[in-house]
Amino acid sequence: MKVTFCCTGTKAEPWLEGLRTALPHAEVDVWAPGAPQADYAVVWAPPQQFMDEQPGLKGLFNIGAGVDGLLKLQLPAHAKVVRLDDAGMSVQMAEYVTQAVIRHFRELDGYEADMKAGNWAFRKPQMRADFPVGVMGLGVLGERVAKALGVFEFPVRGWSRSAKQIDGVHTFSGEAGFTEFLRGTRILVNLLPLTPDTENVINRSTLQQLLPGAYVINVARGAHLVDADLIALIEEGHVAGALLDVFRKEPLPADHAFWKVPQITMTPHTSARTLREESIAQIVGKVAAMSRGETVQGMVDTQRGY
Ligand code: NDP
Repeated sequence: MKVTFCCTGTKAEPWLEGLRTALPHAEVDVWAPGAPQADYAVVWAPPQQFMDEQPGLKGLFNIGAGVDGLLKLQLPAHAKVVRLDDAGMSVQMAEYVTQAVIRHFRELDGYEADMKAGNWAFRKPQMRADFPVGVMGLGVLGERVAKALGVFEFPVRGWSRSAKQIDGVHTFSGEAGFTEFLRGTRILVNLLPLTPDTENVINRSTLQQLLPGAYVINVARGAHLVDADLIALIEEGHVAGALLDVFRKEPLPADHAFWKVPQITMTPHTSARTLREESIAQIVGKVAAMSRGETVQGMVDTQRGY
Protein backbone atom coordinates (compact mmCIF):
# COMPACT_ATOMS: atom_id res chain seq x y z
CA MET A 1 0.00 0.00 0.00
CA LYS A 2 1.27 3.48 -0.88
CA VAL A 3 0.38 6.51 1.21
CA THR A 4 1.29 9.99 0.07
CA PHE A 5 1.49 13.10 2.27
CA CYS A 6 0.62 16.48 0.81
CA CYS A 7 -0.07 19.06 3.52
CA THR A 8 0.74 22.68 2.71
CA GLY A 9 2.20 24.59 5.63
CA THR A 10 2.76 21.45 7.73
CA LYS A 11 6.17 20.08 8.72
CA ALA A 12 6.16 16.67 7.06
CA GLU A 13 8.85 14.75 9.01
CA PRO A 14 6.99 14.10 12.29
CA TRP A 15 3.88 13.04 10.37
CA LEU A 16 5.86 10.69 8.15
CA GLU A 17 7.57 9.17 11.17
CA GLY A 18 4.24 8.59 12.92
CA LEU A 19 2.53 7.21 9.82
CA ARG A 20 5.46 4.90 8.98
CA THR A 21 5.56 3.53 12.53
CA ALA A 22 1.82 2.88 12.57
CA LEU A 23 1.70 1.47 9.03
CA PRO A 24 4.89 -0.67 8.89
CA HIS A 25 3.86 -2.45 5.71
CA ALA A 26 3.00 0.70 3.78
CA GLU A 27 5.25 2.98 1.74
CA VAL A 28 4.69 6.47 3.13
CA ASP A 29 6.24 9.43 1.29
CA VAL A 30 5.85 13.14 0.78
CA TRP A 31 4.24 13.96 -2.54
CA ALA A 32 6.28 15.82 -5.14
CA PRO A 33 5.33 16.48 -8.77
CA GLY A 34 5.79 13.30 -10.78
CA ALA A 35 5.61 11.00 -7.70
CA PRO A 36 4.19 7.48 -8.30
CA GLN A 37 0.48 6.78 -7.89
CA ALA A 38 -0.58 6.25 -4.25
CA ASP A 39 -3.59 4.46 -2.76
CA TYR A 40 -4.35 6.89 0.04
CA ALA A 41 -3.39 10.49 0.71
CA VAL A 42 -3.08 12.56 3.86
CA VAL A 43 -3.83 16.13 2.81
CA TRP A 44 -4.24 19.75 3.84
CA ALA A 45 -4.67 22.47 1.22
CA PRO A 46 -3.08 20.41 -1.59
CA PRO A 47 -2.63 21.98 -5.05
CA GLN A 48 -4.84 20.97 -7.97
CA GLN A 49 -1.75 19.46 -9.61
CA PHE A 50 -1.65 16.88 -6.82
CA MET A 51 -5.21 15.75 -7.62
CA ASP A 52 -4.51 15.74 -11.36
CA GLU A 53 -1.45 13.51 -10.90
CA GLN A 54 -3.13 11.07 -8.47
CA PRO A 55 -6.29 9.92 -10.30
CA GLY A 56 -6.21 6.47 -8.68
CA LEU A 57 -6.50 7.61 -5.06
CA LYS A 58 -9.07 5.64 -3.06
CA GLY A 59 -9.11 7.86 0.00
CA LEU A 60 -8.24 11.47 0.85
CA PHE A 61 -7.70 12.01 4.58
CA ASN A 62 -8.03 15.68 5.44
CA ILE A 63 -6.08 16.67 8.56
CA GLY A 64 -8.80 19.05 9.69
CA ALA A 65 -12.56 18.98 10.27
CA GLY A 66 -13.44 21.55 7.60
CA VAL A 67 -13.20 20.36 4.00
CA ASP A 68 -14.32 23.56 2.25
CA GLY A 69 -10.85 24.19 0.79
CA LEU A 70 -10.48 20.61 -0.43
CA LEU A 71 -13.89 20.51 -2.08
CA LYS A 72 -13.02 23.52 -4.25
CA LEU A 73 -10.63 21.24 -6.16
CA GLN A 74 -11.41 18.73 -8.88
CA LEU A 75 -10.98 15.47 -6.95
CA PRO A 76 -9.98 11.99 -8.23
CA ALA A 77 -13.14 10.24 -9.42
CA HIS A 78 -13.18 7.38 -6.90
CA ALA A 79 -11.53 8.98 -3.88
CA LYS A 80 -13.58 9.02 -0.70
CA VAL A 81 -13.04 12.21 1.32
CA VAL A 82 -12.62 11.66 5.04
CA ARG A 83 -12.44 14.47 7.59
CA LEU A 84 -10.86 14.37 11.02
CA ASP A 85 -13.60 13.20 13.33
CA ASP A 86 -12.90 15.09 16.56
CA ALA A 87 -9.37 13.69 17.20
CA GLY A 88 -9.00 15.99 20.20
CA MET A 89 -10.57 19.05 18.57
CA SER A 90 -13.97 19.12 20.25
CA VAL A 91 -12.56 19.51 23.77
CA GLN A 92 -10.36 22.37 22.57
CA MET A 93 -13.34 24.03 20.91
CA ALA A 94 -15.44 23.56 24.04
CA GLU A 95 -12.79 25.18 26.25
CA TYR A 96 -12.23 28.05 23.78
CA VAL A 97 -15.93 28.90 23.40
CA THR A 98 -16.88 28.47 27.06
CA GLN A 99 -14.00 30.70 28.17
CA ALA A 100 -15.13 33.31 25.63
CA VAL A 101 -18.75 33.20 26.76
CA ILE A 102 -17.75 33.36 30.42
CA ARG A 103 -15.23 36.13 29.79
CA HIS A 104 -17.90 38.22 28.11
CA PHE A 105 -20.66 37.40 30.60
CA ARG A 106 -18.46 38.07 33.66
CA GLU A 107 -17.06 41.28 32.07
CA LEU A 108 -13.53 40.09 32.71
CA ASP A 109 -12.03 42.42 30.06
CA GLY A 110 -13.53 45.36 31.93
CA TYR A 111 -12.29 44.11 35.30
CA GLU A 112 -8.80 43.58 33.91
CA ALA A 113 -8.70 47.08 32.45
CA ASP A 114 -9.98 48.54 35.74
CA MET A 115 -7.35 46.76 37.81
CA LYS A 116 -4.55 47.74 35.43
CA ALA A 117 -5.67 51.34 35.94
CA GLY A 118 -5.54 50.87 39.73
CA ASN A 119 -9.33 50.97 39.94
CA TRP A 120 -10.86 48.53 42.46
CA ALA A 121 -14.51 48.60 41.36
CA PHE A 122 -17.45 46.18 41.33
CA ARG A 123 -19.92 45.77 38.51
CA LYS A 124 -23.50 44.67 39.03
CA PRO A 125 -23.74 40.89 38.52
CA GLN A 126 -25.39 40.02 35.21
CA MET A 127 -28.13 37.41 34.96
CA ARG A 128 -27.34 34.19 33.10
CA ALA A 129 -30.93 34.08 31.87
CA ASP A 130 -30.23 37.31 29.94
CA PHE A 131 -27.39 35.65 28.00
CA PRO A 132 -28.88 32.82 25.96
CA VAL A 133 -26.18 31.29 23.77
CA GLY A 134 -27.08 30.03 20.30
CA VAL A 135 -24.79 27.53 18.60
CA MET A 136 -25.06 27.36 14.81
CA GLY A 137 -24.06 23.85 13.71
CA LEU A 138 -24.61 20.87 15.99
CA GLY A 139 -22.07 18.48 14.54
CA VAL A 140 -19.01 16.98 16.18
CA LEU A 141 -17.84 20.34 17.51
CA GLY A 142 -21.12 22.23 17.95
CA GLU A 143 -22.79 19.54 20.04
CA ARG A 144 -19.79 19.31 22.38
CA VAL A 145 -19.73 23.11 22.75
CA ALA A 146 -23.48 23.28 23.43
CA LYS A 147 -23.19 20.62 26.13
CA ALA A 148 -20.19 22.33 27.73
CA LEU A 149 -22.08 25.63 27.96
CA GLY A 150 -24.95 23.81 29.62
CA VAL A 151 -22.62 22.81 32.47
CA PHE A 152 -22.38 26.52 33.34
CA GLU A 153 -26.18 26.80 33.21
CA PHE A 154 -26.40 29.23 30.33
CA PRO A 155 -29.64 28.86 28.38
CA VAL A 156 -28.36 27.02 25.28
CA ARG A 157 -29.99 26.93 21.87
CA GLY A 158 -28.77 25.13 18.79
CA TRP A 159 -29.46 25.25 15.07
CA SER A 160 -28.71 22.58 12.50
CA ARG A 161 -29.89 21.48 9.08
CA SER A 162 -31.77 18.40 10.28
CA ALA A 163 -33.81 18.30 13.50
CA LYS A 164 -31.89 17.13 16.60
CA GLN A 165 -32.58 16.34 20.22
CA ILE A 166 -29.80 17.17 22.66
CA ASP A 167 -30.38 17.12 26.42
CA GLY A 168 -30.48 20.64 27.83
CA VAL A 169 -30.35 22.32 24.41
CA HIS A 170 -33.33 24.06 22.82
CA THR A 171 -32.93 22.99 19.20
CA PHE A 172 -34.11 24.52 15.93
CA SER A 173 -33.55 23.33 12.40
CA GLY A 174 -33.59 24.37 8.78
CA GLU A 175 -34.39 27.72 7.28
CA ALA A 176 -37.83 27.58 8.91
CA GLY A 177 -36.28 27.51 12.39
CA PHE A 178 -33.56 30.10 11.80
CA THR A 179 -35.49 33.26 12.68
CA GLU A 180 -36.86 31.84 15.93
CA PHE A 181 -33.37 30.58 16.82
CA LEU A 182 -31.84 34.02 16.25
CA ARG A 183 -34.58 35.98 18.04
CA GLY A 184 -33.89 34.22 21.32
CA THR A 185 -30.09 34.28 21.02
CA ARG A 186 -27.77 36.87 22.54
CA ILE A 187 -24.38 35.19 22.17
CA LEU A 188 -24.06 33.66 18.72
CA VAL A 189 -21.47 30.91 18.23
CA ASN A 190 -20.73 29.78 14.68
CA LEU A 191 -19.71 26.16 14.14
CA LEU A 192 -21.16 25.56 10.69
CA PRO A 193 -19.19 24.07 7.82
CA LEU A 194 -18.53 26.49 4.96
CA THR A 195 -20.79 25.50 2.05
CA PRO A 196 -22.66 27.48 -0.63
CA ASP A 197 -25.67 27.44 1.74
CA THR A 198 -23.79 28.86 4.73
CA GLU A 199 -21.45 31.41 3.13
CA ASN A 200 -22.21 34.96 4.42
CA VAL A 201 -24.75 33.52 6.88
CA ILE A 202 -23.74 36.06 9.56
CA ASN A 203 -24.85 39.24 7.83
CA ARG A 204 -26.78 42.39 8.72
CA SER A 205 -30.16 40.65 8.72
CA THR A 206 -28.89 37.79 10.94
CA LEU A 207 -27.22 40.14 13.39
CA GLN A 208 -30.23 42.45 13.61
CA GLN A 209 -32.44 39.56 14.68
CA LEU A 210 -30.25 38.72 17.69
CA LEU A 211 -31.20 40.11 21.10
CA PRO A 212 -29.85 43.62 21.81
CA GLY A 213 -26.32 43.63 23.21
CA ALA A 214 -25.49 40.60 21.05
CA TYR A 215 -22.02 39.05 20.99
CA VAL A 216 -20.59 37.00 18.12
CA ILE A 217 -18.06 34.17 18.42
CA ASN A 218 -16.91 32.99 15.00
CA VAL A 219 -14.79 29.85 15.17
CA ALA A 220 -15.83 28.19 11.90
CA ARG A 221 -14.73 30.04 8.73
CA GLY A 222 -14.15 33.69 7.86
CA ALA A 223 -16.42 33.55 4.82
CA HIS A 224 -19.44 32.86 7.05
CA LEU A 225 -19.26 36.45 8.26
CA VAL A 226 -19.87 39.64 6.29
CA ASP A 227 -17.11 41.71 7.91
CA ALA A 228 -18.56 45.15 7.14
CA ASP A 229 -21.98 44.17 8.53
CA LEU A 230 -20.45 43.14 11.87
CA ILE A 231 -18.58 46.43 12.16
CA ALA A 232 -21.71 48.41 11.21
CA LEU A 233 -23.86 46.63 13.81
CA ILE A 234 -21.21 47.25 16.48
CA GLU A 235 -21.10 50.94 15.55
CA GLU A 236 -24.91 51.08 15.66
CA GLY A 237 -24.80 49.58 19.16
CA HIS A 238 -26.92 46.48 18.52
CA VAL A 239 -23.89 44.18 18.75
CA ALA A 240 -21.68 44.63 21.82
CA GLY A 241 -18.63 42.92 20.34
CA ALA A 242 -17.14 39.79 18.87
CA LEU A 243 -14.44 37.20 19.27
CA LEU A 244 -13.10 36.09 15.90
CA ASP A 245 -10.74 33.17 15.35
CA VAL A 246 -11.17 32.83 11.58
CA PHE A 247 -11.00 35.31 8.73
CA ARG A 248 -11.69 35.55 5.00
CA LYS A 249 -7.98 36.02 4.41
CA GLU A 250 -5.48 34.48 6.81
CA PRO A 251 -3.22 35.88 8.16
CA LEU A 252 -5.56 38.86 8.56
CA PRO A 253 -4.16 41.67 6.36
CA ALA A 254 -2.51 44.51 8.28
CA ASP A 255 -4.92 47.07 6.84
CA HIS A 256 -8.10 45.16 7.73
CA ALA A 257 -10.68 47.23 9.61
CA PHE A 258 -11.05 44.60 12.37
CA TRP A 259 -7.69 45.58 13.88
CA LYS A 260 -9.07 48.99 14.75
CA VAL A 261 -12.38 47.98 16.37
CA PRO A 262 -11.85 47.83 20.15
CA GLN A 263 -14.94 45.64 20.68
CA ILE A 264 -13.46 42.93 18.46
CA THR A 265 -11.04 40.44 20.03
CA MET A 266 -9.12 38.13 17.72
CA THR A 267 -7.02 34.97 17.77
CA PRO A 268 -5.05 33.52 14.81
CA HIS A 269 -7.20 30.47 13.86
CA THR A 270 -6.19 28.54 16.91
CA SER A 271 -9.43 27.59 18.66
CA ALA A 272 -9.13 23.86 17.85
CA ARG A 273 -5.77 22.74 16.51
CA THR A 274 -5.04 19.49 14.73
CA LEU A 275 -3.26 17.25 17.23
CA ARG A 276 -0.71 15.12 15.40
CA GLU A 277 -0.69 11.94 17.51
CA GLU A 278 -4.48 11.70 17.79
CA SER A 279 -4.88 12.47 14.10
CA ILE A 280 -2.33 9.89 12.96
CA ALA A 281 -3.95 7.22 15.15
CA GLN A 282 -7.36 8.02 13.68
CA ILE A 283 -6.18 8.16 10.06
CA VAL A 284 -4.21 4.94 10.34
CA GLY A 285 -7.25 3.11 11.76
CA LYS A 286 -9.37 4.38 8.90
CA VAL A 287 -6.84 3.56 6.19
CA ALA A 288 -6.73 0.00 7.51
CA ALA A 289 -10.54 -0.23 7.66
CA MET A 290 -10.95 1.24 4.18
CA SER A 291 -8.40 -1.14 2.72
CA ARG A 292 -10.49 -4.01 4.15
CA GLY A 293 -13.50 -2.56 2.31
CA GLU A 294 -15.21 -1.31 5.49
CA THR A 295 -16.99 2.04 5.77
CA VAL A 296 -15.43 4.57 8.13
CA GLN A 297 -16.69 7.40 10.34
CA GLY A 298 -16.22 10.96 9.14
CA MET A 299 -16.87 10.31 5.46
CA VAL A 300 -17.72 13.60 3.73
CA ASP A 301 -20.77 13.95 1.51
CA THR A 302 -19.10 15.91 -1.29
CA GLN A 303 -22.44 17.01 -2.78
CA ARG A 304 -23.65 18.44 0.55
CA GLY A 305 -20.23 19.98 1.20
CA TYR A 306 -19.54 18.59 4.70
P1 NDP B 1 -19.87 18.68 11.30
O1 NDP B 1 -19.89 18.38 9.84
O2 NDP B 1 -19.72 17.57 12.26
O3 NDP B 1 -21.21 19.47 11.69
C1 NDP B 1 -21.77 20.47 10.91
C2 NDP B 1 -23.08 20.94 11.53
O4 NDP B 1 -23.57 22.06 10.76
C3 NDP B 1 -24.17 19.87 11.49
O5 NDP B 1 -24.95 19.93 12.65
C4 NDP B 1 -25.03 20.31 10.28
O6 NDP B 1 -26.39 19.95 10.35
C5 NDP B 1 -24.92 21.81 10.37
N1 NDP B 1 -25.20 22.44 9.07
C6 NDP B 1 -24.56 22.25 7.89
N2 NDP B 1 -25.13 22.97 6.92
C7 NDP B 1 -26.18 23.63 7.49
C8 NDP B 1 -27.16 24.53 7.01
N3 NDP B 1 -27.20 24.89 5.73
N4 NDP B 1 -28.06 25.00 7.89
C9 NDP B 1 -28.05 24.62 9.19
N5 NDP B 1 -27.14 23.77 9.71
C10 NDP B 1 -26.23 23.28 8.87
O7 NDP B 1 -18.72 19.77 11.52
P2 NDP B 1 -17.78 19.99 12.80
O8 NDP B 1 -18.64 20.24 13.98
O9 NDP B 1 -16.76 18.94 12.92
O10 NDP B 1 -16.99 21.32 12.36
C11 NDP B 1 -17.69 22.50 12.03
C12 NDP B 1 -16.75 23.49 11.37
O11 NDP B 1 -15.84 24.03 12.33
C13 NDP B 1 -15.81 22.91 10.30
O12 NDP B 1 -16.46 22.76 9.07
C14 NDP B 1 -14.73 23.96 10.23
O13 NDP B 1 -15.07 24.94 9.29
C15 NDP B 1 -14.74 24.59 11.63
N6 NDP B 1 -13.50 24.29 12.37
C16 NDP B 1 -12.75 25.33 12.86
C17 NDP B 1 -11.61 25.09 13.57
C18 NDP B 1 -10.81 26.21 14.15
O14 NDP B 1 -9.72 25.97 14.70
N7 NDP B 1 -11.28 27.44 14.10
C19 NDP B 1 -11.13 23.71 13.82
C20 NDP B 1 -12.01 22.69 13.31
C21 NDP B 1 -13.14 22.99 12.60
P3 NDP B 1 -26.84 18.39 10.32
O15 NDP B 1 -26.39 17.84 11.65
O16 NDP B 1 -28.30 18.44 10.20
O17 NDP B 1 -26.13 17.76 9.16
